[in-house]
Amino acid sequence: MRRTGRVLAISGGVGGAKLALGLARVLPPEALDIVVNTGDDFRHLGLAISPDLDSVLYALAGLADGERGWGRAGETWQFMAALRALGGEDWFALGDLDLATHVERTRRLAAGETLTQATAALAQALGVQVRLLPMSDDPVATVVDTDEGRLAFQHYFVRRRCEPRLTGLHFEGAQHARPAPELLALGQDASLRAVVLCPSNPWLSVDPLLALPGVRAALAACPAPVVAVSPLVAGKAVKGPTAKLMAELGLQVSHRSIAQHYAGLVDVLLVDADEPGLAMPGGPRIVVVPTLMNTLDDRERLAQAVLEAAS
Ligand code: GDP
Repeated sequence: MRRTGRVLAISGGVGGAKLALGLARVLPPEALDIVVNTGDDFRHLGLAISPDLDSVLYALAGLADGERGWGRAGETWQFMAALRALGGEDWFALGDLDLATHVERTRRLAAGETLTQATAALAQALGVQVRLLPMSDDPVATVVDTDEGRLAFQHYFVRRRCEPRLTGLHFEGAQHARPAPELLALGQDASLRAVVLCPSNPWLSVDPLLALPGVRAALAACPAPVVAVSPLVAGKAVKGPTAKLMAELGLQVSHRSIAQHYAGLVDVLLVDADEPGLAMPGGPRIVVVPTLMNTLDDRERLAQAVLEAAS
């Protein structure tokens, strides 16, 4: 059954999860769907790892580690220590609690479930009531061209700590992957209240989703307001390689570059501060509000601002 007044949020990992949590706290669970990037997903040590889905899952379940900024609170690292002692691959940290998520996801996928089904089962088990959806059930792999050659995403992001200079990005498999039906429905879904692009990295976390066949066109045709939040605060990325990547791609590190990146897709852009030349003819309406989310209150306030901007 189609639910009217629904909000569909599009998220990457940690940055997106902050606003996703804010939205989940100000909307009834049946009024929110969150579609998450899976371009960062990979197989590691035989396990199916979905870093962005897990970041959103842990945030919504109240299990995220606020201090470290990723993974689960109260995490322990005995598995990693034991693996290291065996000479195993230890560049990607898997906490003992987190490991259970990957083992259970891998088991479900091996038993024939789709990633959508496995994600729904994990969310339900952790008491998450909003719908959490992978962008696709088909594999998509972000790969980056760098001055050290072509690297699989996690090798660039985690193993090499984003140090190589980036020259290009590819989303392998995206052109043949089937998007989540909720994404394709955006083009004609009159029941939607808003689409929200969370303040995720536009190039690494949102572009893989926009690269799926039909998604860009569906979003551009969306009858509901599309509201994005800029991931830049005080002219910088709050965390992660967004600003470094923008500079390496020859872009100004500015809200204007974010607005241009989402040109034709976004109706409103929320930014923390105005910039000269930010409001462009034919560009998104600009709303200036505090967008830094340190506390739970910040997340709720920004979620309310997003919904107001959409109305
Ligand atoms: P990842 O997949 O875990 O790297 O996370 P995302 O792609 O979802 O988010 C990364 C982006 O979130 C970075 O560009 C950060 O600048 C942005 N970000 C993190 N926290 C905040 C915040 O409190 N406010 C805003 N506006 N952006 C944030």
